[in-house]
Formats: sequence, C-alpha cells, structure tokens
Amino acid sequence: TTAVATGMQELLEELVVAHRPRGPVGSVPASIPHLGRVEPTSFGIAVATVGGDVYAAGDSDVPFSIQSISKVFSLALALRQDSANTLWRRVLREPSGTAFNSLVQLEAESGIPRNPFINAGALVVTDVLQEQRGDARGQVLAFVQALSGSSEPAIDGAAAAGELERSSRNLALANFLADFGNLRCDVRQVVEHYVGHCSITMSCRDLARAGTFLADGGRVGPWAGEPWSALTAEQTRRINSIMLTCGLYDAAGEFAYRVGLPGKSGVGGGIMAVAPGRGTVCVWSPGLDAKGNSVAGAAALADLSSHLGWSVF
Ligand code: GLU
Repeated sequence: TTAVATGMQELLEELVVAHRPRGPVGSVPASIPHLGRVEPTSFGIAVATVGGDVYAAGDSDVPFSIQSISKVFSLALALRQDSANTLWRRVLREPSGTAFNSLVQLEAESGIPRNPFINAGALVVTDVLQEQRGDARGQVLAFVQALSGSSEPAIDGAAAAGELERSSRNLALANFLADFGNLRCDVRQVVEHYVGHCSITMSCRDLARAGTFLADGGRVGPWAGEPWSALTAEQTRRINSIMLTCGLYDAAGEFAYRVGLPGKSGVGGGIMAVAPGRGTVCVWSPGLDAKGNSVAGAAALADLSSHLGWSVF
C-alpha cells in the first residue's frame, strides 16, 4: 500500500487502515507466555516531532510490553552516568548476525558481547546500571517516565515473573559473562533487573515522546518539563548508529533497506524508529516475523518513511 495523505494525522489514520492485521499474523514468543494474551489485531502508531507535536492513531494509547526497546533506554542511561567512560570496554558495537539470545560469539570474543542490543550486551549494560546506582530496573523505569513526561509507564510484574521462570538461557549468558569477569553484580539479580526493564509497558504515544531526544541531538521534548538533555549530541548520534546496524535483530540490514531509519524492535511487537532532525515514530502490532520483528509494524514504517521521505539515506 502506498499512502496518499497530505497531513501527518491523516497519514497515520491511513496507515492504521492499511496495516492493522485482520486476524493473527506471524507468531508471538513462547518464552514470555504473557505476550500470547495480547489481541492479535492490535495496531497502534504515534509520531512525536522535534517541534513538540504528537500525532497518534489506532491503538496508540494501549500499553504494551516494550521488551528489547528498553535496551535503548538502559544504554542511554548507562552512558549518561558513565563518567569514567568504561562502558565501551565491556561491550562492542558490531552487528552479531546471530540470534538476539545467542551464546556462540561470546566465547570467541572473550566475554565481550558484540553489541548492547543483543541479550549478552544488554545484560552487561544492566550490570553497569546496577553497579552505578543499584535498582537498575527502577532506574530505567524512572528514566522513561521522565522522558515521556508520563507516570503511566510501569513494570508488568506478572510478565517479568513468567519470563524469569523460563530464563535458563539469559542466566546462562549472565553466568558466562561473569566467568569472564564482565558481570560484576550478583548474576541472578542482574537477570531479574534485565527482565524487569524488558517488562516495562508503555503506549506508542509515550514511547514516541520518550524517544525524541534521539531525533533532537539529545534534547528532550516539551512534555519532559523544563528543557534538559538526556545525552550529548555526539552520544545520541552514536546510539542511532548502533540502532541502525544492530537494532532489528539479524534483520537490521533488511530494515535499513526498507525503512532507512535507525530503529529498535522488541518481541512485544513494538518498533521505535528515529528520523534525526524530524521526530521519533513508534508502531506496535504483536504478530512477529521469523526474526522477531513486528510484521505489520515494519510494513507500516516502510510506508511512512517512503511517504514522508524520512529515510536517512
Ligand atoms: N526479555 C526478552 C529476552 O530477554 C527480550 C527479547 C526481545 O525483545 O528481544 O528474551
């Protein structure tokens, strides 16, 4: 479908009509039973611009499980607090080309994960947060609440508990990292806090608002109160580069080809995409493709970016 709308609100309404699934599509992850209970035809989209305007359509106010999208915020927060500049000694910045929860490269790379958006790398980032100030999951929650200017983002304790029961693989990754000396806090606690921040629920509207600092050189939107910067312009550019190369599991190349924007997806069916200098888009629909990305969400973003000419290329 190619949208023909002239205004942003009209465009989003058209994208909802064109892309909302008519029945179940793709799959939902078996490792997080909670995610199987979501209405499969859900579809929401929101755009928050650097000028401070917010447009939203479809199920844009329904909170969903942000899962791996939380890795962008945990990374931003860890960098913000990393005055000694040690984080990049503990995690690399290369796409992995393997599944998000893969163990295989860790041994070859001596316990240094390939990037902060695969689980191994995100566990290291959570460990850094835990080491810096304690209560990593609470820190990430407070950060997304502050960025979105909303008290609605919350941790879904039942989802987290259900996932934790099936966390053998994340525990294996964490133990492996600890054996290489790249996890400093208590292993089980780090996994608990990691799963906890993955279980944050947010609406497309709040997530788009929370992400505008990535489109605006680190500056937060007007909904976040008095002007402040979440990160420097340079740190922001770098996060965007990692999102572009590593943000969509092992389909980052395909997403760059189709959408042309830095993005981060999660197995809850959300995708946050950043159009530098313009705004941040969040789309959500729970059915996933074989790589773990929202089927309808990626299609809608491809349409949106081509309609608006927002590709960074
Ligand atoms: N909490 C999930 C896990 O660790 C996140 C998966 C994802 O969204 O990529 O498996």
